[in-house]
Amino acid sequence: MKKRQFIFLILMFVFVSDSKAEDDFHRQRQLMVKEIEETVRFTSEHTGKEALDPQILEALKKVPRHEFIPSSMQPFAYLNHPLPIGNDQTISQPYIVALMTELASINRDSIVLEVGTGSGYQAAVLAELVKHVYSIEIVEELGERASETLQRLGYHNTTVRIGDGYHGWLEHAPYDAILVTAAPEIIPQELIEQLKPGGKIVIPVGKQSATQSLQVLEKDAQGAIFKRDILPVVFVPLTRTQ
Ligand code: SAH
Repeated sequence: MKKRQFIFLILMFVFVSDSKAEDDFHRQRQLMVKEIEETVRFTSEHTGKEALDPQILEALKKVPRHEFIPSSMQPFAYLNHPLPIGNDQTISQPYIVALMTELASINRDSIVLEVGTGSGYQAAVLAELVKHVYSIEIVEELGERASETLQRLGYHNTTVRIGDGYHGWLEHAPYDAILVTAAPEIIPQELIEQLKPGGKIVIPVGKQSATQSLQVLEKDAQGAIFKRDILPVVFVPLTRTQ
């Protein structure tokens, strides 16, 4: 066989096995979404949600979760589980990502703040659904990797900043929705101030020694605040440098 033919065959092999892996991931992703839908039905008594918005389901079917995790974890990318992403942090359980997205009541015009970029997966799901996502991550290595992944996958309506998001991100406030993906002991006042009237904060609240409570805080048009406990959850702590 000539050298050129040999190289051609190798390239074909790489291409075919790559697209087979992508097909497998695609199939696994559809199954993951089915499982999320079942969990949503199963927990509806607590969440008040029988089903997810079809647009959220579409976003979950689209975002390649395997691109947001270390390659050693990729075989598990589409299990409905949190997974380690390095630096002692985790990518959230897909059901929780879906539920938090649903509870935020976002639309195509929304400007959203996420505190705790982690892998960037939640930011990508939001980016499929809203106008712009501002996301802040305290661990530099994670923030940089997430930002690179989001840009590589074409999520140009996301902006990731490295920094402490405990007090929010004033520069782009007010936000239509704020999702916090790490748990403080109480909801920081600045986050409430950076929320638009009519907006929602979705946030796990509580001490690390126990499970936390996923809460939805709503600010009505007059600025009055209403809080609801949704589900017990386990999140890493929202650290605080000041
Ligand atoms: N949303 C992420 C999962 C986040 S895990 C995803 O989709 O993968 C929680 C993240 O919050 C961790 O990466 C942690 O480093 C980050 N974090 C904790 N405290 C923070 C703070 N004060 N400001 C910004 N990020 C914080």
